[in-house]
Formats: sequence, structure tokens, C-alpha cells
Amino acid sequence: MFGAGEYGVEVTVEEAAVERLLDTTPADVSSAPELTFARNVFVPLTTACRYTCTYCTYYDPPGQASLLSPEEIRDICQRGADAGCTEALFTFGDDPDDRYTAIHEQLAEWGHDSIHAYLREACEIALDVGLLPHANPGDQTREQMELVADVNASMGVMLETTAEVQAHGGPRAKEPGQRLATLATAGELGVPFTTGILVGIGESWQDRAESILAIRDLQERYGHIQEVIVQPVVNNDRWQSGSPDVETMRRVTAMARVGLPEEVSVQSPPNLAPVRELLDCGIDDLGGVSPVTDDHINPEYAWPQLRELESIAEEAGVPLNERLPVYERYIEDGWLSERIEAALDADDAAGERYRALLVD
Ligand code: SF4
Repeated sequence: MFGAGEYGVEVTVEEAAVERLLDTTPADVSSAPELTFARNVFVPLTTACRYTCTYCTYYDPPGQASLLSPEEIRDICQRGADAGCTEALFTFGDDPDDRYTAIHEQLAEWGHDSIHAYLREACEIALDVGLLPHANPGDQTREQMELVADVNASMGVMLETTAEVQAHGGPRAKEPGQRLATLATAGELGVPFTTGILVGIGESWQDRAESILAIRDLQERYGHIQEVIVQPVVNNDRWQSGSPDVETMRRVTAMARVGLPEEVSVQSPPNLAPVRELLDCGIDDLGGVSPVTDDHINPEYAWPQLRELESIAEEAGVPLNERLPVYERYIEDGWLSERIEAALDADDAAGERYRALLVD
């Protein structure tokens, strides 16, 4: 057992399971019978972040951070809906701390005492124009998540790693225990959830195995993990230490497939990972593709167009199927709030944009 007592969650990772994962190679996994993706529109709600991860170009320091206005949110979402997206992907830094006075003053002017209160309004706007919200607001307390859970089809946060790494360091280091607690909170609240590991930020192979198994433990407890992203760190203006090589990505992706329960998708992001080299390592999802906005998390790495995804699926010899931001089993099993169910039902009458993507 390790992790996160300070944050109210303890995660069990068996040493024998770690050893098994450390012995895993791509030869131990099979290719998936299909690849899936979602059409999303990126909505970078704010670039303020309390942390300063050394590999991240998303956050802006106080005085430079942006905050989208309700009008801008509506405009981006409308363009996404018009282009056929199903998902409004709300990206954040992590809860802006007291240093971000301009952000807090602007929120107050708009009638909100926190970024989560504003997120709720943003999700309502997305639902209003016909998109399903999927918010990634970083670490969340139970109170914060409760405030927005019913207006999200699913939510997410990258675990990245269970290890304490220098890349998270500095005066405001984010802590793995807090991320695990956020995952556990999502489970307790019944929120379908996306998480992932970030490869190449100073973690060891043992750390990678433990991170995968920690997610497994939470999935076995709550059943809420819909997909796990296996993402390499990449060079950018703040990170010049390089990316993990292809062999590393092949091995860690296979580890994720072996270490996670079968129902959890393993996602590889084609704009960051060498996806064509990973097709035999157990990946079954290619994440989101946006016809409208840039990937604001990694702006230098443009989203591949849909044609690129089709080409990848063709190379794999499997069908490429569009999915919703919430995986189908959560719809069937009644996980969604009345608000999200109503959005799905309303869309039926308007032309089956959502339900047309469901298999059953
Ligand atoms: S990776 Fe996330 S938590 Fe870290 S600085 Fe960037 S936005 Fe903030």
C-alpha cells in the first residue's frame, strides 16, 4: 500500500503485480479490433495555474493568464457544434491561487467566487449550444467536483505519475497524492473519468508500473475509469530534455494494456505519441480530434486531421469509430445526471447526433 493518506485515499499496489508488469513486453498484448476517437472543441477556460510543472507550456504566470469570457466560450462552442463536434473539452491549469488577482477580480465581476463556479456556467453554455462538456480542472476537492459533476458527461485529470518527480518541483509542486484523491473523489461521486500517465518526466519503470496499478486499484473500487492516456512528454519552450524513445513507449503502452482492466481503453494521442509504432501494443483509442481549435495544451503539435486518424486505422487494418466523450457503458448503466441524459435525449429529436454514435 502507498500513497495518499494525507488526502484521504490509500491505494493498494501489490509488489507481485508490479513485477509482472515490469516483465511485460509488446509481445504480451494483442492489437485492438477497432480504434475510436471523439470530435471535440478545445475550450481553454483559463491558462492560470497554481503549479509550475517544468514540462508545461500551458500555464501563464499571474498578470499574463487568460480567462475566456462567456461570449468567447459561446462562440467557440457554437463553432464546434456547427462543425459536428460532440464534446466541449474544457481545459484549465489548476485552481488559480491567490497570486492570480486579475483572474479572481474578473471572476468576481462576472458574479463568481471561484473558477469552478464559472466552469458551471461554461458547461451550461456548452450544453445550450448542443455539446457534451468534459472538463479537466486539475486537482479537485469533493466540493469543487460536486459543483460541476451534473453538467459534465465525463471529467478527467492526468495522474501522470505516482512518483514525486523534480519536474513537478519548485515552490509549488503538485503532489501525486492529491491527484489520486481527485480520482477517488470522481469514483465516489460516480463521474465517468479519463486519466493517464505522462512518460519521461523523471519517473522510473517501477513508478510507471505503480502508476498503472494505482489506476487499476481505483477502477476496481469504483468502476469509473473509462480510458487511460499513455502520453510521452515532448520538447517545448519550457522542456528541452527530450521525449521517451519508441521502444520505451511500446513497452509502457503494453504495460498499460496488461495492467489495466479490459474495459478501460488505452489511448494514444497521435499528435504527441508515435501511434503507428504502437498499434500492436494494445491501444484502442486515439483521443479527441478538433476541426475548430488548436490543441492549446501542446500548441506546437497540431492535431492530426481526421484523414490522419483514418490512415492510422487503415494501417492497423481495423475500423475507426467515432465515440462520445462518455463511454457507452456509463450511459447504459445509468451513470449520467438528469441534465446530461436530457441533453442526449434532446439531441435524439434534433437528428440523433449523439445517440447515432452508440452501438446498441
Ligand atoms: S501540467 Fe497542468 S498542473 Fe502542471 S503547470 Fe501545466 S497546467 Fe499546471
